Amino acid sequence: MPVQAIAKIVGKEKLTEGIYKFSMKCKEIAETAKPGNFLEIKVSDSYEPFLRRPISIYNIDKENDVIEFIFQVKGKGTKMLMERKIGEDLDILGPLGYGTFDTKGHKKAYILGGGIGVFPLYELAKELTEEKTDVTVYMGFKTKDLVTLETEFEDVSNKLVITTDDGSYKEKGFAIDFMKEDCKKEKPDIIYACGPLPMLKLVQEFANAENIRCQMSLEERMGCGIQACVGCAVKVVKNGNENYEYVCKQGPVFDSKDVVI
Ligand SMILES: Cc1cc2nc3c(=O)[nH]c(=O)nc-3n(C[C@H](O)[C@H](O)[C@H](O)COP(=O)(O)OP(=O)(O)OC[C@H]3O[C@@H](n4cnc5c(N)ncnc54)[C@H](O)[C@@H]3O)c2cc1C
Repeated sequence: MPVQAIAKIVGKEKLTEGIYKFSMKCKEIAETAKPGNFLEIKVSDSYEPFLRRPISIYNIDKENDVIEFIFQVKGKGTKMLMERKIGEDLDILGPLGYGTFDTKGHKKAYILGGGIGVFPLYELAKELTEEKTDVTVYMGFKTKDLVTLETEFEDVSNKLVITTDDGSYKEKGFAIDFMKEDCKKEKPDIIYACGPLPMLKLVQEFANAENIRCQMSLEERMGCGIQACVGCAVKVVKNGNENYEYVCKQGPVFDSKDVVI
């Protein structure tokens, strides 16, 4: 059940230019959060900006009652968030989203992340590894300066492939192409993906054609985060019936066979 919590910022770290990690002491959310859940964060103490900003949970540390999130500074809201300091309180709603990653009972999993889409995949990889699933992570970034979390993902995977579009770090090209090559050698039970829409469309097409189960986390623009504004509706087709579901409520994680993106 989501709660509104006033949580203290107990850690703040700049990972690379414009990308920050915040650690929050928050027992209520840490004890119930699952991989794929997100938070709606009130970035300032005033009414401006009015809307909270949705940010995925990156890491859940139940032992210490801590949750962590990572964000890229994009506009007004995330800039205000970046200016918050250790010791200050943040008003957060969470854990949000009923569609979360299914981590149970898989022998082999491929995880595909693009850009800031890699952040919600860390807790997933961590829990799969705890479940003894064989995990390969494919992470794609535009360029070397944007590469983050390499050692963190190394620790929670059996194999890690990092690509950059321009070849400035590790493999040159798109992460999805390396994943497809590996699928020719050995198909996983499941693929998980989060990242830009064009990448998600490609992985959806591939997984559906190859008949591999695929769960995708959508980071659509969102207003309220609690299904009041219907701003994040997506079309889903289940058993031939078309319907609309909401990224904030039924998502953010959808099965690639159901969702129309
Ligand atoms: C479920 C969910 C989980 C998310 N998780 C993360 C996360 O873990 N880390 C992270 O860095 N970001 C995440 N995002 C995106 C993040 O919410 C937006 O970047 C943020 O709300 C932008 O707010 P702003 O006030 O800084 O920018 P605004 O001033 O609102 O917009 C600035 C620019 O960012 C673009 N933008 C705004 N929202 C989005 C979006 N959802 N997707 C793509 N572009 C957007 C706008 O088009 C505009 O160009 C997530 C979004 C959703 C819906």
